[in-house]
Amino acid sequence: MSDLNPGAVITEPGSTKKYKTGDWRTFKPNWDSSKCTQCMICWQFCPDMAIPQKDGKRQDTNFDYCKGCGICSQVCPVKCIKMEKEEK
Ligand code: SF4
Ligand code: SF4
Repeated sequence: MSDLNPGAVITEPGSTKKYKTGDWRTFKPNWDSSKCTQCMICWQFCPDMAIPQKDGKRQDTNFDYCKGCGICSQVCPVKCIKMEKEEK
């Protein structure tokens, strides 16, 4: 927190990459790739762009930015993302 400007004012563009919001996480999504149908619904709904894709296919979660909100787990139609307590 001490790295933030007073009032958390953003003074330069493109600063979101610098803030590793994954530090905020209490729960983390555990993705079972063997059950994933690659529908990409989780990718569409993730508010932090923390689900990468390559060649149209979902990749494992980017835990530098995943805040553990659980939206991906809720929207996955085949329930292959389970939220688990973060081990720190
Ligand atoms: S838990 Fe939230 S932030 Fe993390 S990958 Fe799922 S939708 Fe994105
Ligand atoms: S919503 Fe579920 S099935 Fe669809 S891409 Fe994401 S993890 Fe895979």
